Amino acid sequence: MPLRVESISKEQTQQPLRSLFLLYHELRSSQSRYSYVIETGLFERHMDLFVQLRKTNRFGLRPELTFDDGHRSNYELAAPLLQSRGLTARFFITVEWTGTKTDYMGWAELRSLQETGFPIGAHGWTHKLLTHCSDDELKTELSKSRLMLEDKLATSITTMSLPGGRYDRRVLAACMEAGYTQVYTSVPQAECLPLGATVGRLNISGSMQPEWIAKLFNPDGRVLAKLGRQYRMKEAAKKLLGDRLYAGIWALVNRKEPGTDGGGGGAE
Ligand SMILES: [Zn+2]
Repeated sequence: MPLRVESISKEQTQQPLRSLFLLYHELRSSQSRYSYVIETGLFERHMDLFVQLRKTNRFGLRPELTFDDGHRSNYELAAPLLQSRGLTARFFITVEWTGTKTDYMGWAELRSLQETGFPIGAHGWTHKLLTHCSDDELKTELSKSRLMLEDKLATSITTMSLPGGRYDRRVLAACMEAGYTQVYTSVPQAECLPLGATVGRLNISGSMQPEWIAKLFNPDGRVLAKLGRQYRMKEAAKKLLGDRLYAGIWALVNRKEPGTDGGGGGAE
């Protein structure tokens, strides 16, 4: 039977068609020289922009928030600011660091986040770049981390964020084999709804002003397309130079210690 146009409500036709996922790491109450740390006041201005964008939603591109690594500022600073604005975010956790690494969340904080309604996903066991892992190491990074999160949080874990954003076909196959249905990458691109098996994200640095971020949501999509081109060039450079040399150069340019956050990869 042909679909009758009048059966589609006005509300349905106005539903957003695409999402742009944004990736945050750590918040601090003061400015930091590290590019993955965002100052709390600037983060609040980002959140105010997202509230406005989600309300007006004029262009059908909707901001969605994610955090990688499990830094304790996610719980102490970001979660209350998100809640106060009616926003949510998905928190991806490096499981071995939970309750063991200084300045990272413990299980009590993760349970509290989950009970508040924030979804939790995995970000590997040790944050090792998955493209560098043997088959056994992939099992640890993907299955051990998922099972531990499920055991400790008593919930099903089906999303995985790739450390350093690194992946290839073997890694994606291993993610699916380990029980993940969605894999979050660092490819800056808008995603159509419903989401597919991989979800691109834009990595947010502490120098990005809300005025610039707002341009990503312009209907012409030019700023986002330019970022996509830059990302592909960066990936080509990584292939050419190798991960280690690339990470060293990246750390110099971005004022970040290799081996922190990126877990040996530097970026993301
Ligand atoms: Zn990470």
